Amino acid sequence: MSDGAERPADESTPYPPCSECGGTVVAATVLGPMAAIASPCGCVVSPEMFDGAGHE
Ligand SMILES: [Zn+2]
Repeated sequence: MSDGAERPADESTPYPPCSECGGTVVAATVLGPMAAIASPCGCVVSPEMFDGAGHE
C-alpha cells in the first residue's frame, strides 16, 4: 500500500519534543506562568517551551 514516500513527522509538529521525556508533544495545557501539562505524555513542563516563537 506504500509507495515508499513517507514523510518525517517532525516536519509538521508545531511543538518541540517534551523536555522531560523527549516524546512528541501534540498539545499542552497551561496551568500557570511556570507550569504546563504536555500531552499525551502528561509531563509537567515549562510553558516557555511552547511559547518560544517570537519571544526570547
Ligand atoms: Zn513528557
